[in-house]
Amino acid sequence: MKLGCHISVAKGFSKASFQAAELGAASFQVFTKNPRGLRPKKVDYADAEKGVAFCREKGITLVAHTPYITNLSTPKVDLHEVTVRSIKEDLHIAETYGAIGAVVHCGKHVGEGEEEGTRRMVETLNEILADYDGDTLLLLENTAGQGTELGLKIEDLVKIREATDYPEKIGFCFDTCHGFAAGAWNLPTFDELIEKMEETGYLKSLIAIHFNDSKAPYESRKDRHEKIGKGEIGAEALTRFLHCEQLEGIPIILETPVEKEEEYAEEIQYLHQLKEGTPAH
Ligand SMILES: [Zn+2]
Ligand SMILES: [Zn+2]
Repeated sequence: MKLGCHISVAKGFSKASFQAAELGAASFQVFTKNPRGLRPKKVDYADAEKGVAFCREKGITLVAHTPYITNLSTPKVDLHEVTVRSIKEDLHIAETYGAIGAVVHCGKHVGEGEEEGTRRMVETLNEILADYDGDTLLLLENTAGQGTELGLKIEDLVKIREATDYPEKIGFCFDTCHGFAAGAWNLPTFDELIEKMEETGYLKSLIAIHFNDSKAPYESRKDRHEKIGKGEIGAEALTRFLHCEQLEGIPIILETPVEKEEEYAEEIQYLHQLKEGTPAH
């Protein structure tokens, strides 16, 4: 398992990769561009190359994350066009940074219904991936099910991937907080979750885990991240992921609330303690 965290890329990709090593992260995540905007971003290729070489030397794995405001299922023609263009660009940036995957949020059907929303999402994914042949996979992240979000269940995500023309270009990112809030798992059903991941073929394409506790209760369908062990999921349930043989080798990335990135150093240490079975608190 590669324990790590989300890191700001505001000062450039090489700085972000140095920061990962500084924090003791064996994996990290960066946004491809401002998460609340879709404005194209200029990539500093020389700086990116420096970061990629550093990560390779240190054996650090990178996952990229695309902006939040895209909607793969939007019925609006203009937002659809912007979404396709933006995510194509995100894939290019993610590849430049050497990311194994670029996380994208599932669509929101915005009142059109689940079936129509899913159809539209598949159509959009096909458009994005038609002429993409890079090594970075597009990773569908499970949602908490806020509003009209699609992609709460493992089965739904597998169906969406298989319905596209390019399943081989698509992988998955499982967010522990979203899954808990969506009712996809909790401590008593952890084993069932892993079984379902195996049976459906999800596990083979599981590329990254977002590791978060939840401020909101089980099945609340609210996406509120909390520090590990301080929320409704709790350390015991989350530790099951760290001890799960089937998940060995997968990047485990914290997206928990911090005031300063430096706080992640301690939380990553805490994860190591949980994994070794000697928690300090
Ligand atoms: Zn996440
Ligand atoms: Zn979230």
